[in-house]
Amino acid sequence: MKMRKFIVGLDLGGTNIKIGLVNQQGRILRKKALATTNFRDKNQLIAAFVNLVKQFILEEKLRKNNILGLGMGLPGPIDSKRGIVHFFPNIPGWNNVPLKRIMENRLNLPTFVDNDVNLITLAEWKYGAGRGVNNMVCLTLGTGVGGGIIIEGRLYRGSSLTAGEIGHIPINEDGPLCNCGGRGCLERYVGNRYILQYARKRLKNKRLTLEELTRLAKNGNHIAIDIWQITGRRIGVALAGLVNVLNPSRIVIGGGISDAGRVLFSEVSRTLKRRAMPQQAKCVKVLKAKLGSDAGIIGALILVKDKLDL
Ligand SMILES: [Zn+2]
Repeated sequence: MKMRKFIVGLDLGGTNIKIGLVNQQGRILRKKALATTNFRDKNQLIAAFVNLVKQFILEEKLRKNNILGLGMGLPGPIDSKRGIVHFFPNIPGWNNVPLKRIMENRLNLPTFVDNDVNLITLAEWKYGAGRGVNNMVCLTLGTGVGGGIIIEGRLYRGSSLTAGEIGHIPINEDGPLCNCGGRGCLERYVGNRYILQYARKRLKNKRLTLEELTRLAKNGNHIAIDIWQITGRRIGVALAGLVNVLNPSRIVIGGGISDAGRVLFSEVSRTLKRRAMPQQAKCVKVLKAKLGSDAGIIGALILVKDKLDL
């Protein structure tokens, strides 16, 4: 009998640590999530990663040689070549941590690390809404606004391996300060927190959630519709610049607020058609991401296969 081979994908977020066992065809056979806030510091988190992987192997009655490797998606700038976490903007205490080496020492498994949005981009490209195209841009909308870029059939990483920060494209020269040190960045307008701030003020409801804002818009509330349209226009303006430069054929948008649906997506597309140059605008299609919260784990499979040349 041929031995079963899997990879373990781990996706660290500000809220959850997700882990999954994936077969080589990209199917998740088992997954689990833990709250990130259960762990107080870097060392506790690393211990949690190690235990999760060990538990998985035990519970599935696998042996070490059933596991090809561990892939980790991490929320910050990562040196994926050397396996180093530079820092996490939303989890304190990480400063140039050689995570690949640490995990390999403790688990004795080949381990590869990358930025979480890079892995989501790879997953949507190979198995999701970006299947079959050579040039694609992926945008993830959440508390942070992230991005990943596929150029000519490869993930584009940039000179210091930190390319793709679409959330930090400035859309307003004199706009408000952003966490990144810049001004008027896209994230400063369409990050969850800022949409909520604006919507709560306009709808005079201090407890409004983004789900409620979406529901209001679907029920025809004009202010809610207007807020999603303004958001769609801002995303569209930033993407128009990117589309003019990169000439992608697909833009994939994921993350929580992509659930706002048609009201948001049609405004993004309309703005793109109006603001990007005609040749570029004509060939680009905007689609919602397909893989949802599994994308990071599936991306980890692609990372491990790529690094091990499988
Ligand atoms: Zn910024």
